[in-house]
Amino acid sequence: MRIRALVSGLALMFAAFQVLAASEVQSVRLWRAPDNTRLVFDLSGPVEHKVFTLTAPNRIVIDVEGGNASKPFEQLALENTPISGLRSGKFDNNTLRLVIDLKAQVSPKSFTLPPNQQYGHRLVVDLFDQDADSPAKLPVTTTPQTPATPVSPTLPAIKLPPLPSSKRDIVIAIDAGHGGEDPGAIGPGKVYEKNVVLQISKELQRQINAEKGFRAELVRTGDYFIPLRKRTEIARQKGADLFVSIHADAAPRSSAYGASVFALSDRGATSETARWLADSENRSDLIGGAGSVSLGEDQMLAGVLLDLSMTASLASSLNVGQKVLSKMGGITRLHKSRVEQAGFMVLKSPDIPSILVETGFITNPSEARKLQTSAHQQALARSIHTGVRQFFHENPPPGTYVAWLRDSGKIASGPREHVVRSGESLALLAQRYQVSLGSLRTANKLKGDVIKVGQTLQIPATTLASQP
Ligand SMILES: [Zn+2]
Repeated sequence: MRIRALVSGLALMFAAFQVLAASEVQSVRLWRAPDNTRLVFDLSGPVEHKVFTLTAPNRIVIDVEGGNASKPFEQLALENTPISGLRSGKFDNNTLRLVIDLKAQVSPKSFTLPPNQQYGHRLVVDLFDQDADSPAKLPVTTTPQTPATPVSPTLPAIKLPPLPSSKRDIVIAIDAGHGGEDPGAIGPGKVYEKNVVLQISKELQRQINAEKGFRAELVRTGDYFIPLRKRTEIARQKGADLFVSIHADAAPRSSAYGASVFALSDRGATSETARWLADSENRSDLIGGAGSVSLGEDQMLAGVLLDLSMTASLASSLNVGQKVLSKMGGITRLHKSRVEQAGFMVLKSPDIPSILVETGFITNPSEARKLQTSAHQQALARSIHTGVRQFFHENPPPGTYVAWLRDSGKIASGPREHVVRSGESLALLAQRYQVSLGSLRTANKLKGDVIKVGQTLQIPATTLASQP
């Protein structure tokens, strides 16, 4: 009897203690993405919360049960955000009220995140911009009062010349891994994977855009989080012919080094490292917080599509992956000399060939150092670019400028080597292959223009497509 009373007394005390142990809002951070704004409140412990909107003036209210904010929030950079201010106050004894003042319409979504390697408990509030094309946001136009000029019936019909056959660009979606709440791997001296891979991605974009017939689109343009499924969706919206995800991850062993290239596997991983990396990449949504995104139906649909069209795009993925890998082998050590496969969520686009490039292990001190230098970033981008270009010169999608180049004999398919025959000069070959004399010399490490009959020359197919 007495023991039972004691136990229930303890339970009561424990419950009371739980209520009293308020979670302190320690700081607030803001990430601006192209179509949403994320506010992250760092907390000393888990909380319950609810979110609602109020009008006149427009604001979002977050009631945090058991929350406390004993010091004022730091100044946030609110330019280019829909937020005009942030304040907090006690709503009642047990409720902290956070108020986000708005200068534009948004739809809020909120959730909590458990601690990760970088942050503790968090309350995340995503504010999605209202669609620019939604009627509510269209500017009010006034009807002109002057009568419209009637169209003259005597105007001759304009006959348009036939349009030239379209020669569209090949689109490469470059996906810089992680971002925002998800730092990716953290190397010695607090090197964040998310920052290094964005720099490499931007350099790769610059290089690809400098080449006629190609266009590179960044999936992530700044420091914000994008859920894995959304990344493939963005690539599809941009009309991508290829999806390249750029990473620089941790390894199970810190001694691991070297670059690797991965493609999707629906059957399991080709190595332990591949499996380990895929598992760690796939955790990104948990770390960065994809919110309440439900993947149930989506995954089932993806499964069906995978069976239907994955085979073709997987073959392409392996092909382009192998080319990128062999070019990377020229500038950095490789972890494995063949493309590895594992169940990477971000590579699950059934119709877009997709590869994931691990540029090196950021947990390896010497690789971490190299990965931060612009010289190495440029070299990595160049090797990825060269592999991608080679793949598309051999396999140009129909209707593209590169397909037109190939069909009009301006790109040789297959390996580009030339065995010098009698009577040929370097200048003549440069003209025939439409490459510059300089690039021909460089590709063959020639000091002058002297070539010998029977000599094998490397023809840089690379400069072909960049010439109009
Ligand atoms: Zn990564």
